[in-house]
Amino acid sequence: MARRSVQTLVEQLKREGMDYRHATVGPVHLSQKLAELKTAEGYKISAGTFIFACGPWLPKLFPDLLAGRIFPSRQEIFFLGPPPGSNSFGPPRMPVWLYHQHPYIPYALPDIEGRGFKLAFDLHGDAIDPDLDQRVVSEASVLRLRAFVARHIPSLAHAPIVETRVCQYENTWNGDFLIDRHPQAENVWIVGGGSGHGFKHGPAVGDYLVSQVIGRATAEPRFSLQSKQRQQQRAVY
Ligand SMILES: Cc1cc2nc3c(=O)[nH]c(=O)nc-3n(C[C@H](O)[C@H](O)[C@H](O)COP(=O)(O)OP(=O)(O)OC[C@H]3O[C@@H](n4cnc5c(N)ncnc54)[C@H](O)[C@@H]3O)c2cc1C
Repeated sequence: MARRSVQTLVEQLKREGMDYRHATVGPVHLSQKLAELKTAEGYKISAGTFIFACGPWLPKLFPDLLAGRIFPSRQEIFFLGPPPGSNSFGPPRMPVWLYHQHPYIPYALPDIEGRGFKLAFDLHGDAIDPDLDQRVVSEASVLRLRAFVARHIPSLAHAPIVETRVCQYENTWNGDFLIDRHPQAENVWIVGGGSGHGFKHGPAVGDYLVSQVIGRATAEPRFSLQSKQRQQQRAVY
């Protein structure tokens, strides 16, 4: 559903005149104001302000600035097939839940799309290269899932895994977002560090960023580049 809402937004904005290009920008090395960008496809993009919201790819785009400040982690999702005819794993009988005190921080969504009961662990997984890593769940994750389900949801102990996803968090050191100007180029903004919880904040991040770009509001220090340390210590979930 999150994917569909982003696609719906893009289609709506295109109808409202947004020029949307499916293109790739290479690493950006800046020493002054940016006037123009050239994409791998050969598009030349000139603008007054450039905003880079490239998620876990930001360290690849700004290696000097962001390598070691954004830590992409591998996150694996499982959908389990409930027993035939069971309505125990769908709304309203099954809530959305997160078990914060558990070392793996498991969370689950009821079967809202007929895909099965969704279960995953919020604990940061291994480092991931969002371009190169294989998006196939690991045997170790399946074993961890099975052990957790056998103990906490015994009625699904032998349920089939009907679907899996491998995704990535784009973590900052503590989980706070990164929304700031590039230190070498006043018209370049970097927005990211969603850290596993950025989707729901999308509209508010958009508002905040606009207020920063047009200089309408004071900056929130916790979003600054300067506040981003190189040693991970998760605090914001
Ligand atoms: C398993 C999982 C569960 C999550 N659950 C939740 C949740 O329940 N609630 C919540 O709020 N958040 C959740 N999140 C976090 C949320 O998905 C992210 O924080 C959010 O998607 C970050 O948005 P973004 O726009 O910063 O980055 P992304 O969504 O990663 O978008 C970055 C975009 O930049 C593009 N890009 C990258 N490099 C280039 C380039 N060189 N040139 C051109 N384009 C480029 C990419 O193709 C991509 O489309 C979850 C994340 C995961 C992985």
